[in-house]
Amino acid sequence: MTSHPAPPRAGPVFSARLDTPVERLAGVGPRQAARLAKLGLHTVRDLLLHLPRRYEDTREVIPLASLVPGNEVQTVRARLARVSSRRTPYKRMALVEATLDDGVTTAAAVWFNQPFLVRQLREGEELLLSGKVKWERRGPVLQSPEFERVSGDQLHVGRLAPVYPETGGLTSRYLRERIEPLLPLVELLADPLPEPVREEEGLLTLGEALHTLHAPEAPDLVDRARERVGFEELFLLQLAAQRARRRRLSGDGVVVPYDPELARGFAASLPFRLTDGQRLAAHAILTDMSRPGPMNRLLQGDVGSGKTVVAAMAALMAHHAGFQTLVMAPTEILARQHHATLDGLLAPHGVSVRLLIGATPVRARREILGGVAAGHDTLLVGTHALTEDEVRPAALGLVVVDEQHRFGVAQRQKVRQKSTAVANFLAMTATPIPRSLALTLYGDVNHSELREMPPGRIPVATAVVGPEGRDDAYAFVRAEVAEGRQVFVLCPLVEESDTLGVRSATSEHERLSSEVFPDLRVELLHGRMPSREKEERMGRFATGQADVLVTTSVVEVGVDVPNATIMVVEGAERFGLAQLHQFRGRVGRGVHASHCLLFQGSPDPAGRQRLEEVARTRSGFDLAELDLRMRGPGDVIGLRQHGLPEMRVADLLDQVLMERARAAAERWLDIDPALDRHPPLAEAMNAFRAVFDLD
Ligand code: ADP
Ligand code: MG
Repeated sequence: MTSHPAPPRAGPVFSARLDTPVERLAGVGPRQAARLAKLGLHTVRDLLLHLPRRYEDTREVIPLASLVPGNEVQTVRARLARVSSRRTPYKRMALVEATLDDGVTTAAAVWFNQPFLVRQLREGEELLLSGKVKWERRGPVLQSPEFERVSGDQLHVGRLAPVYPETGGLTSRYLRERIEPLLPLVELLADPLPEPVREEEGLLTLGEALHTLHAPEAPDLVDRARERVGFEELFLLQLAAQRARRRRLSGDGVVVPYDPELARGFAASLPFRLTDGQRLAAHAILTDMSRPGPMNRLLQGDVGSGKTVVAAMAALMAHHAGFQTLVMAPTEILARQHHATLDGLLAPHGVSVRLLIGATPVRARREILGGVAAGHDTLLVGTHALTEDEVRPAALGLVVVDEQHRFGVAQRQKVRQKSTAVANFLAMTATPIPRSLALTLYGDVNHSELREMPPGRIPVATAVVGPEGRDDAYAFVRAEVAEGRQVFVLCPLVEESDTLGVRSATSEHERLSSEVFPDLRVELLHGRMPSREKEERMGRFATGQADVLVTTSVVEVGVDVPNATIMVVEGAERFGLAQLHQFRGRVGRGVHASHCLLFQGSPDPAGRQRLEEVARTRSGFDLAELDLRMRGPGDVIGLRQHGLPEMRVADLLDQVLMERARAAAERWLDIDPALDRHPPLAEAMNAFRAVFDLD
């Protein structure tokens, strides 16, 4: 960390505007500019908005005589009495050594493998040094201390020094030297928070907050600055949510009257009893649809929890009132599955259920489009093919989107806009968002959850398998296959660059098919294959033409292979808990008892404990909560998948600040419903488009 002796060159830079590219700053050559670009830092503005992660507090300066050995970082002020360099006899490591003198006593400092320091450390100079201390025969020795010449205006040592989230060879020291001289420019940044909001909430201006965060005078000022930035993030989030809600409720929605007799008749026609969760969800949905504002509801429930039946009841109600329903699924396989299920459930009630996918032959397609446009086909299931302009329902009343985060905003919009009045909207997902977050985050979405599985389902037995258990596990796999069952083997990413896990799945497929199960039919499926090929391979597995499917998290969502009874997860510790739960949901869908084997790749006890939680816990919601508590919102898959922008400062679990932000957003919308009174605010809201379907 000790390098870059050049003091910040202030002066000419002050005239730079916020859009000045970083290359134009003193101390930024092409190499550094490339590294900054990797961090997303292209302009002066970006640098100013790049926030420190934490601070190193080296304000307490002690005499050399007070140094104590140990891991505590200590800061001293002393003169460099002598500087020398040498190499260690055996490893030929370069050492730079200095004798420090504070006028009372002396101590030593040593730096390893930084021979160039000998040119930067000048005898006679007065320094502040900060580091850990080792005790040697000659006395205390500071170990590779951070240091800075005493100037009365310390940037690195002897102050609260910001520590930036670093990558790719840029040190905090380097960033401090670039950012500090730019600080007067914070005044030029437009503040997204309108002044009245800031004043009501007693918050700093953006400029004050950034100034403090980059160069704080005291820790409690940092807290105030962080509060200000965090509030802004939550305020924008709440503003987006509340605005979407107001818009929706003020629009004309399709009203589908709630006919309780029809609902009861449908339930009675089923070969099973609805669970309490299904009953509650259906009631909420039918109530929403009967109100003038269009429904916007998210139905969450693990795979197999019975969401489709609930959607079917809503579609039947719409049909009864003379309205059509579109059901959109992310893949052809899922669309086919939904079509089969819905047709089975609704055909007896006189609903004509059709399927439209890419593979639909031209003639059939024309006929379906005609039926939909004429209004006698009331339920159309399909993939994104449904978004095409030729799909023109005569009277659309309900849109159901399964795993909606798999579609782009534009696709979602398009399918919702196929009616004059705003159609009721039901999103279904098996990717749980922890309730504690969902309620505050999605101010505009009403939630229903199916927390229990239909009765009679045998829970998937889950076991954590260490390296010693691998052979037994494979023997077990073989025995199940001999019984006619099928097996998933799911592989994690190997490295960052291999984002789809292609490499590990490919090599695992190679190993399993040649060494472990040469006599079995082992199929490979990964995300880099063209989607047609993916569907073909998945189709072969689904129809029993393969025993083992080696794959990646592409099989995460939806597909039903009731004959598959084992889910093997390789390197299980690399996945989030809720995600493992989703993988587990791929099996246990038929009449046979099923198993999930979590192979632990690294023998870390904490990792094992996390995996044991998955084995113990049956509920995806509980596991999502656990992910949230153990790893923070950044690791909750639901949030990433639902497109929530990353919060840089705000704690999404901070109920108090969230509530303040919500109330402030409501008040602001009352006076500025179109958000045109403070342009920087409207601009800052852009980041939330993907989540809230703005405009
Ligand atoms: P999801 O869409 O939530 O993954 P589905 O709606 O496809 O789940 O339901 C999974 C299976 O469970 C289907 O075969 C369905 O018929 C069945 N099922 C749904 N609800 C019940 C219930 N209350 N009791 C028994 N079986 C049910
Ligand atoms: Mg489903």
